Amino acid sequence: MKAEVDETDAVVISPHPDDAEFGTAGTVARWTKAGKRVVYVVCTAGDKGTTDRNLTPQALTDIREKEQMAAADRLGVAQVDFLGFPDQGLEDTPEFRKEIVRIIRKYRPHTVVTTDPYRRYIWHRDHRITGQVVMDAVFPYARDHMAYPDMLAEGLEPHKVRKLLFWAAEDVNYRSDITDTFEDKLAALHCHASQVIELGIDDLEAWMRRRCREMAEGEPFALAEAFHRVILPS
Ligand SMILES: [Zn+2]
Repeated sequence: MKAEVDETDAVVISPHPDDAEFGTAGTVARWTKAGKRVVYVVCTAGDKGTTDRNLTPQALTDIREKEQMAAADRLGVAQVDFLGFPDQGLEDTPEFRKEIVRIIRKYRPHTVVTTDPYRRYIWHRDHRITGQVVMDAVFPYARDHMAYPDMLAEGLEPHKVRKLLFWAAEDVNYRSDITDTFEDKLAALHCHASQVIELGIDDLEAWMRRRCREMAEGEPFALAEAFHRVILPS
């Protein structure tokens, strides 16, 4: 059977439900308001991120999937794919890499947004692995037809991503203006009620506003999301 292929402006690949909202929701809202097509891919079910001992992994998976769908809906995201890998279980394997290549060849994005793999010291292993695997999948595996001959038979042709944006980067070289979409980011974050509670932040708006103000440092606008940006060779 031939896979359905859909040109997309941006694919956002996050390790867990809620990571994309913290990292890039303001930028996503700006894009969707400009008519761009954005797709979310969530690698794990987020089934371990709780201190509530009464919750089962399945119950937590259900809650987090619903929260992620609500947040994506609020941001005008066209599609959310849940890959369903176990939380705290991502590894840099051929299977995971191939799954990401499949996503890239299916949605054919101009831009891929994900988590920075090169953050030092304390960093969730799933975040480090996701960033690494996405980067490798974009270049060279999604690009080269010989990488996965079986995908060609499915209609999943090679694809060249033009731009990569990594959130949570220590080496920031691009600050995205989210002054007009900060409220959308905040509303999307509030959709993740079970995670906001876990963070123990009293005033999410004040906390997020302060962070976004810091990320806009040196720019002519007030609020930003910061990234390491890579332009790929054409
Ligand atoms: Zn996460």
